[in-house]
Amino acid sequence: MEKSYMGRILMVDMGTGNICEETVPDKVYENYLGGLGLAASILYDRIPAGADPLGPDNILAFVSGLLTGTGTLFTGRWMVAAKSPLTGTWGDANCGGNFSPAIKKCGYDGIFFTGISEKPVYLSIINGKAELKDAAYLWGKDAVETEAILISEANDNKARVACIGPAGENLSLISGVSNDRGRLAARSGLGAVMGSKRLKALVLSGDHAILPNNRAEIKKLRLKTLIFVKSQPPLNKGSLNAYLGKAFRMLPSQIVMDGILYKMMLKKWGTVSLNQLSIEIGDSPVKNWKGTYRDFTGRKSAPINPDRIIAREVKKYFCYSCPLGCGGICKTKDMDGKDFETHKPEYETVVAFSGLLLNEDLDSIFYINELLNRAGMDSISAGATIAFAIECYEKKALKPGETNGLKLKWGDTKTIVALVEKMIKREGIGDILADGVKKAAERIGKGAQKYAMHAGGQELPMHDGRNDPGFALHYSVEATPGRHTMGAFMYYDMFQLWKKIKSLPSPGLMYSKDSKYVADEEKVIKAAACSKFMNVANGAGLCLFGAFLGLHRLPLFEWINAATGWDKTPEEYLEMGAAIQTLKQAFNVKQGVDPKSLKPNKRTLGEPPQENGPNKGRSVEIDELMKRYWEHFGWDPETGKPA
Ligand code: SF4
Repeated sequence: MEKSYMGRILMVDMGTGNICEETVPDKVYENYLGGLGLAASILYDRIPAGADPLGPDNILAFVSGLLTGTGTLFTGRWMVAAKSPLTGTWGDANCGGNFSPAIKKCGYDGIFFTGISEKPVYLSIINGKAELKDAAYLWGKDAVETEAILISEANDNKARVACIGPAGENLSLISGVSNDRGRLAARSGLGAVMGSKRLKALVLSGDHAILPNNRAEIKKLRLKTLIFVKSQPPLNKGSLNAYLGKAFRMLPSQIVMDGILYKMMLKKWGTVSLNQLSIEIGDSPVKNWKGTYRDFTGRKSAPINPDRIIAREVKKYFCYSCPLGCGGICKTKDMDGKDFETHKPEYETVVAFSGLLLNEDLDSIFYINELLNRAGMDSISAGATIAFAIECYEKKALKPGETNGLKLKWGDTKTIVALVEKMIKREGIGDILADGVKKAAERIGKGAQKYAMHAGGQELPMHDGRNDPGFALHYSVEATPGRHTMGAFMYYDMFQLWKKIKSLPSPGLMYSKDSKYVADEEKVIKAAACSKFMNVANGAGLCLFGAFLGLHRLPLFEWINAATGWDKTPEEYLEMGAAIQTLKQAFNVKQGVDPKSLKPNKRTLGEPPQENGPNKGRSVEIDELMKRYWEHFGWDPETGKPA
């Protein structure tokens, strides 16, 4: 029977060069779906306890989604997973672009690498022939150059490439894996795992058919989503988004967000539509999480008005199977006035290199975006690490003699660019910072940990848990700490899961902002529902922004049934999501991780609370929320360990 998955994985032993196929039993998909669920089922069993993340026992997985290539929409994400060298926990990262269908077209749901090669190599799978090829001539080249060379050498217009840049080669613990000219699976430091294996790239081209069970049903179900995505009332000025943020800030109530507004904003501007809005409402952290919009006022944030960003967009960018196209290709100038093209920077990159550092120079943000994409370095982590370094300098934990003569100051564009360049090259102070804030604080000492905003070692994303305690909870309890892509109270509102699963609470049209800070059962039910749902989404290869349309507009569960021939209810899918969550938690416990140790820096939890701004007086009852969350999953509420 046709089921949309390929039922096979490829295992590559980098130490011996042995490459072999394995058949995956149907029950693995029926229990854990594809994507990261499939990766979890294999990595949990096969990575030995206590494995060195940069050693031969770690396994690096490249997986495609269960729905990728089936005619469904928003389902072209590919994912990387391994034991994270940044956190020592389960590590995964997720990326759009065009690489995901290439994995399946080669006949596999995932490609897994173990061992360490003696010399740099890349994996080539062209027309069914899988081989490791010499990559010495590519070592040292950036991700964009590497991809261009490999595509040209493959001489095959179907060939797709994922690769690392110098950051991964240099084992930077904040490095990621790139595809499609610098789109990065950035988080968890998995570029360093690839670098440790001396695996420069994967080049994939195949012709395997991806066969869903009921293509007609999938097509029928697409229609409503397509009509919704294609319709677009006019949106005029990006500067209005900042005023919208001010208005939201002043309201005593939280409005339950429906996907309509976000879809319109994404379609017009992309994720940068949120830049000023998020700073105004207190979602986007300012000045290493100690500032507010008062430090980065509307005048100072004007350069990141989304209109100014899309003024440089020369064409829209769509990931595989996406009808929305929140990306863009931009033309701009570097710091010397030379023209270059780059992906439109994402919200996370823009605010990590503006409000978080008080930098008002948009040219520098475009330039840094391209530098980091080419190097294959995570822009969230890089921005957070520079914010940490500036605060260390301000508090005299770092002295001029330790910074290559650079005077680290808030808003000093030249110094910020210089620090990025040094981190990429691991040069001087850059070598201290190139592994993120936790390692840098250990190297610096002198109480620097106080200024390091991370959870379990991973730098926090640009969403403030003091504004939405759901973020703080997910940063603390997810198997990969410090991730914003698994849930938040606002995400729960947008997913609108209660329209499919009647036992889940409906938030109504609005609720009081004060109520967000009460650590009660309902908050935990919402957070757990987000985690479970996102495990299903990551099993299917779904883009988070597709999920933001709301499950009443995006028929994820129905599509999985149509693609596989299963007849599962939404409740049963969430149970599968819960099983994946437990498996990832068990992975962490097997690897010796103490779940209680993954809580973020106290400042980010409002301990002590801020004295002004939108999050004034707010703190998160994180210990109570964590206990209740663990209990919800049937794990030990005191230790967070699955039974
Ligand atoms: S919404 Fe944006 S990130 Fe998501 S699939 Fe479409 S283009 Fe890619």
